[in-house]
Amino acid sequence: MIVSVSLVNELTVAGDRAGPVAGDELRVLAQILAFDAPSLAALDGDDVPGFVALARRLREIFDDLHGNDVDAAAERLNALLARSPAQPHLAKEEGRWRLHHHPVHAELVAMYTAICAEALARIVSAGDADRLGTCQAPDCGRVFVDVSKNGSRRFCTTTCQSRVKVTAFRRRRGPANTPPSE
Ligand SMILES: [Zn+2]
Repeated sequence: MIVSVSLVNELTVAGDRAGPVAGDELRVLAQILAFDAPSLAALDGDDVPGFVALARRLREIFDDLHGNDVDAAAERLNALLARSPAQPHLAKEEGRWRLHHHPVHAELVAMYTAICAEALARIVSAGDADRLGTCQAPDCGRVFVDVSKNGSRRFCTTTCQSRVKVTAFRRRRGPANTPPSE
């Protein structure tokens, strides 16, 4: 799961879905960054507004792509990259040199701005912008990276997919009928 997707889904509100309760963002961020112990250790309450702002900017990029406006998304990505330029460098981790792209001594928000913008920019530059998707269930708005073979994913989860199917079924058959068990 790429971090951009988690930030957008957990820190921004779309459709009728409720966002995090005010004041709960720090707990949500701790869950998102739990995969990286140094990030988690560096996280504190001062980072919350920066992460919320980053999540909103990333949401705008997914919105552009949902409207098939790759040019607008690319411009937004360039603005993010200009704000927090990536800086390729080698870092030794558990005895192995790994290539990192974020600034070496950046604060957490700047570091994740670079990481998220570069990850999305790579997907766009690979010609895969249409794989950055937004759930088509009417009241959802969660985003995802479509890694399916034919790139035809339309929903964030099978839960949303079945919900939409059931609604369509009811609309066809009338409210008195039971939905399919799937
Ligand atoms: Zn959904």
